[in-house]
Amino acid sequence: MIPADTAEAQILELVMPLDSRRDVETVSLPEAAGRVLSASVVSPTDFPHWDNSAMDGYAVRYDDIAQASATQPIELAVIEDIPAGQPPQQSVAAGQAARIFTGAMMPPGADTVIMQEETERRGDRVQILATSRPRAFVRERGSYQRAGGRVLSVGSVVTATEVAILAAVQRSQVEVYRQPRIAILSTGNELVAPEDELQPGQIVDSNQYALAALVRQMGAIPVCLGIVPDDPAALKTAISQAIAEADMVLSSGGVSVGDYDYVDQILGDLGATLHIRSVAVKPGKPLTVATIKGASAPQLYFGLPGNPVSALVSFWRFVAPAIRKLSGRGGNWAAPFLLARSRQDLKAGGKRETYLWGQLHTTPSGLEFSLAPGSHSSGNLINLAGTQALAVVPIGATAIAAGSLVRVLWVGAAWPSG
Ligand code: AMP
Ligand code: MG
Repeated sequence: MIPADTAEAQILELVMPLDSRRDVETVSLPEAAGRVLSASVVSPTDFPHWDNSAMDGYAVRYDDIAQASATQPIELAVIEDIPAGQPPQQSVAAGQAARIFTGAMMPPGADTVIMQEETERRGDRVQILATSRPRAFVRERGSYQRAGGRVLSVGSVVTATEVAILAAVQRSQVEVYRQPRIAILSTGNELVAPEDELQPGQIVDSNQYALAALVRQMGAIPVCLGIVPDDPAALKTAISQAIAEADMVLSSGGVSVGDYDYVDQILGDLGATLHIRSVAVKPGKPLTVATIKGASAPQLYFGLPGNPVSALVSFWRFVAPAIRKLSGRGGNWAAPFLLARSRQDLKAGGKRETYLWGQLHTTPSGLEFSLAPGSHSSGNLINLAGTQALAVVPIGATAIAAGSLVRVLWVGAAWPSG
């Protein structure tokens, strides 16, 4: 049994990310959300594109209005109106002003904007009732970004903010990594599909569907290969097919020490290298991690434990970091831990890093963790509903008192890429 952090680091070492030249495709801007950029994006223009006004008001020459006040207003001649989207037609000379609106181009000659509230309009003249700073309310050309500079990095996940930037730099087509394909298979003679009639002793295959949902949530494509019986020949065929069709393989069940647990043996027969057999975590101790020669690149194989909670916990803790790296994402791939105050006493055996599931609450004094009521058995998936986080009781600790801070692994649907 190796510690969880060691296993995670070892797994990340083994992952070969998608290739930024080969494993790419071009998608339209609206389709880019949720995808990972396979190339950096450079701005073709300055941002702002030209000096423009941050206010509705009057574009003036600072020297003209430096002494203006409510008691001694300065009067200027208004030479034109400049709405947003329309270039100025004239230069502002001494003693002149131009009516200007938010986002409109500054006219030549003017260097400062006086907001409307500090003026009084009289026909074609305007009284300036207060002085200002030089260049006040002028958004200067290139002050946000210079042309030729990088606005988005390769490996960025495209969210709403990146979509806005891509639109602003006029990328209607976006180069992204293809979505990795993750094969999923369930092993066990006892398993039946949800639509089948349950016979005594049988168990419904929930892992296939849960894992597929997690894979999809991460922006990858689940390739569901169904239920495989505990039969070495059938397993060998299914695992070979999985390897041929995907970039990474997840199986659940069959990695314990029972008489029907054949996965490790089959992987050996197929020439895989087994790196991890078990991890000091609860739930989720039996975990097989292997590499095997795939169609194009070496592939990672995860043999997840069969118990429904163990399979999910193993995914959150070990598979999700691997998919993040595989996808071409930059930044931090590791499992995202936070600190939260526990609302209940948390108990554990002390021998393995123990994960207890529950919900996170945002409060004015910070995050709080509430433990799911009911059994925290690895076979009980019923009280997993609404799980957002796993509280961690470290090896060596048998209790964490209510009110103290606890490390929690965030497992909610969306999380920043880090
Ligand atoms: P195993 O790891 O194969 O020994 O399975 C451990 C436990 O998890 C057994 O009770 C299995 O019936 C159950 N199990 C295995 N695979 C699945 C699955 N795909 N969905 C739900 N339960 C499963
Ligand atoms: Mg089994």
